[in-house]
Amino acid sequence: MRRVPFGEADVIATFFTADRGIVGAVARSARRSNKRFSALEPMHGLAVTIDLRPGTELGVLVEASLARPRLVLTADLGRLEAAGRALRWVRRAAPPHTPEPAAWRAINALLDAFDAPPGEADDDRGPPSPEARLAATGLVLLGAVGWGLELERCVRCGRVAGPGVVACLGAADGGLVCRACGGAGLVLRPDRRARLAAAAAGDLAALDETDAGVAIDLVEAALAAHAGLARE
Ligand SMILES: [Zn+2]
Repeated sequence: MRRVPFGEADVIATFFTADRGIVGAVARSARRSNKRFSALEPMHGLAVTIDLRPGTELGVLVEASLARPRLVLTADLGRLEAAGRALRWVRRAAPPHTPEPAAWRAINALLDAFDAPPGEADDDRGPPSPEARLAATGLVLLGAVGWGLELERCVRCGRVAGPGVVACLGAADGGLVCRACGGAGLVLRPDRRARLAAAAAGDLAALDETDAGVAIDLVEAALAAHAGLARE
């Protein structure tokens, strides 16, 4: 996920792993020429061996190799920025040393989609922008860690908002809040609500360009409500 210089020649690398969720590890001498850690760059899929001692947060990186290089993604600034924001969301949402299989699948689906050659459409809707894919992934990530936005019924009274109904949504409330329960800040037209629901269910191409900014703001607000301010 990221690498930060440490001491004279070391690096502290943060990984999102399939087995252990977020794990930090010291890569000794990684800033000197060190063939063992030449693969240590964000965005790629790596195979790593980490020495983890009980009771310590930070492991020691033993070995790292490129398992799934994502060279198209890392060469495209727009995709790279969107992917970087998604990784920051994962760091905020996922507790360390806890497997998060649904979040793992969601982030890998995004990074793999970003690694497809430019112009390659998923389907006849045409290729979504990096922001639209990022926004959809953010909604999936919220659900993956148990903070998914409720888009069908009022979070206070449980009243269902029918498919054609204009509804109010509060990210910090966790979803829709009906007018009888006081309403919430964002007014959602039914078509947009349906697209947000499809994105949250895993359709990375569900959102259009006008949805993307709205959905990204929702994800940021939900993360702030649940996880507090960004840990950087
Ligand atoms: Zn209500």
